[in-house]
Amino acid sequence: MPSPLDLVLDPSGDVILVLSSHKDTPPESPSTDTVMAEQSDGHDDAESIGSAAEPHSEALNSIEETEEMEVKVSSRHLALSSRVFRVMFDGGFQEGVPREGHRLRRVPLPEDEINAMLVLLYIVHGLSRQVPRKIDLPKLIDIAIVIEKYALHQVAEVYTDIWFHELYESRSIPTLNSDLPEWIFLCWVLRRPTEFYYCTRAAIFRCGPRFEDRGLPFSIPVANRIELARLSTIQKLLDYLNKLIDCYSGSRKQCVSHKACDATVLGDLIQNLKAEGLYPVPDHATIDLPIETLWSTLGARRFTSLCHARPPTPPSATPYARAPKPNADPKCTIDSHFSNYLALLKLETLGLDLEEFPSANARPAHHPEALRWAHNSRYDW
Ligand SMILES: [Zn+2]
Repeated sequence: MPSPLDLVLDPSGDVILVLSSHKDTPPESPSTDTVMAEQSDGHDDAESIGSAAEPHSEALNSIEETEEMEVKVSSRHLALSSRVFRVMFDGGFQEGVPREGHRLRRVPLPEDEINAMLVLLYIVHGLSRQVPRKIDLPKLIDIAIVIEKYALHQVAEVYTDIWFHELYESRSIPTLNSDLPEWIFLCWVLRRPTEFYYCTRAAIFRCGPRFEDRGLPFSIPVANRIELARLSTIQKLLDYLNKLIDCYSGSRKQCVSHKACDATVLGDLIQNLKAEGLYPVPDHATIDLPIETLWSTLGARRFTSLCHARPPTPPSATPYARAPKPNADPKCTIDSHFSNYLALLKLETLGLDLEEFPSANARPAHHPEALRWAHNSRYDW
């Protein structure tokens, strides 16, 4: 087994973080002018930190063969940047206690993604030249997971704002839709109310009976809220269908031109709904189609009436008058009413408000104007 590698972010540091790398996640190689290889200040425990003066480009290049990596850091920097680390080092936890006979504290962090942790440690220690300016979505997700776990929101905010903005602005709609759980997670951790609203609204329309969070460490009930919002919209649609059926099967006549017109409308409506599996009108919980699919198939349905098939003769007509042309949109058809209702329901279905989903140590998310903008944004869903 290869010997552990050392990375010195603070030569006067008093903590060694032991990071674990996985074979499929080699760390990125920083430039050779990395400052971590500076000489120790003479106060370090050389046995604990190993060869701190080793060139780090070599060290990082060989990380693929290494399971653990020791990084010398400053507990003060960490404690100032994160209340989690503050508790860890100042709160008397085991991690805060130096090994007997050694000044350096050794803190294993085996569960944290090593590359994400390294980027955040560079930020915490002010080593901005080591912080990548561009980052891809999976890497930003890894970083966001560490940020949320250690409450590093504020210290990383300048960088995460830049990364997020660039990725979000350059996204394509199909990509965004396929990565909705990831985007929602990012928007929640990085406190992006407008984008959170938009992405959760898209999820409400696009997800099936379950919103898959893909194992992302949400500590908020976002999946549950998306599912509830989806069911609520479906319930409104089913209520509307029931009202339509009641309306055309009741004693009050809807069409004054043909006695049998209401029955035609009702029969046609039932036939259309049956073709979509919506008659008898089911319980909302049994519908596993995404709202978007439901809207699309129902929106494509065309409804007819007797007045549509046999336009009524105007009262002034004589036997010599020409027969009226079939009316393309007689008042008694439900076509336009139906499509208008679908459009209205779509407008009334809102995304989630980030303010209701707090995140540790993150900035406030209350931006009502931003939410209004999101709802009226150019994106359809
Ligand atoms: Zn009619």
